[in-house]
Amino acid sequence: MLILPGWLVTAGDVAPRKDWGLRIVDGLVAEVGPSADLIAAHPADAQIQAKDRVCLPGFVNSHVHLYGVLAHGIDVKAPPDGFESFLEDYWWPQVEDALDVDMIAAATDWVCAEMLRSGTTTFFDILEAPNSLPGALLVEKEVVEQRGIRGLLSFEATERAGPDIAQAGLEENVNLIRACEPDGLVSGLMCYHTTFTCSGDFIAKAFELGQDLGVLTHAHANESHFEGEWCQKEYGQSTFAYYQGLGVAGPDFLASQCVQLTIEDREIIAENGVRVSHMPLSNCEVGGGIAPIPELLEAGVTLGLGSDGYINDFYEVMRGAFLLAKARRLDPGVLPGDTVLRLATHGGAQALGLDHVGRLDVGWSADLQLVDANLPTPLTAHNLVEQLVLWRSQQHVSDVMVAGTWRVRNGELLGADLGQMRARVHEQAERLWSH
Ligand SMILES: [Zn+2]
Repeated sequence: MLILPGWLVTAGDVAPRKDWGLRIVDGLVAEVGPSADLIAAHPADAQIQAKDRVCLPGFVNSHVHLYGVLAHGIDVKAPPDGFESFLEDYWWPQVEDALDVDMIAAATDWVCAEMLRSGTTTFFDILEAPNSLPGALLVEKEVVEQRGIRGLLSFEATERAGPDIAQAGLEENVNLIRACEPDGLVSGLMCYHTTFTCSGDFIAKAFELGQDLGVLTHAHANESHFEGEWCQKEYGQSTFAYYQGLGVAGPDFLASQCVQLTIEDREIIAENGVRVSHMPLSNCEVGGGIAPIPELLEAGVTLGLGSDGYINDFYEVMRGAFLLAKARRLDPGVLPGDTVLRLATHGGAQALGLDHVGRLDVGWSADLQLVDANLPTPLTAHNLVEQLVLWRSQQHVSDVMVAGTWRVRNGELLGADLGQMRARVHEQAERLWSH
């Protein structure tokens, strides 16, 4: 198949090319070149003519909570007055502890649909639902496979609900990881919550399990001032100094959030190759602050973007990252559009340890989106990426392909009844809210 867009963006750090296209064979990008050359070389190939579209890599949402959609608009019984209270008084009792498998399945299906329709082709989900064990991840896996999006799944093991549930959380990850086919769309990571909900022994055990299974281990880290202060009080050191002591702070560790970091934390992350995922919008929601993204990038940290299950339209997530960094640093030149697009695609894939995902180079997975190129001002190789970052949104995404298979065509999610899916998630949200 030949995809022949008006403009081709193979990666955030490569200049856009006018009238270039792709040849897709067996789910991979087989050739990249001027559209006229591709047509001449492969006259018998099917042609997807998309002159008024930009073709770019699908987004990699490197941190989402699919169940989060069920809490959109929920009546918060005890309005939180800080990050700790956000978890203890609201998120844990009213959402996570009340989730069951039916709610999780409905939310998974809906958010996968939402993500595909906004150009996301890969995501990493973190499920924390202590009362849905065992088996919740295997249910998620089935739904994700049916929807045809690339998903990394994990259960956030935590000791806050007691040792049995903590152990069951680790086992949930092991069972999922073992159930995944090596080249399937779904795979798994090891995962636990944080230093303030898991003991050092438990963290070390989770990390060792992850290493034995050959996967990354994920945790939330320093989403606000709370965790750093907690580690200082409890262990007399910063969060990442503590992680270094546990032998966790290295390239097999993916730390999400990393909003409030000491200079020492930043250095440990950079020097040890810890991977980071950044959630600009949800960091605002919980009052966590604005992460030092330019500083982490300058130090060479592998970094992706995530929605945290809050606002899942990745164009909005990119805008959040683009704008907040400038406001925080009082510098309009920091974190330009091409860097943001790279973080939203290949950066996320690197943070998740995925090979050949996130760019449209030869031999890479054909995970891509076509976006309406009819902007009110002329597109040039120089302005195109910033125009996409600032002035495109979910409704401009017309077509989405995952591993060579169309999942969205002309704005329609294929093989899905959105009305039925919405009714199902609505019903499950009502069940959660009445808990
Ligand atoms: Zn999160």
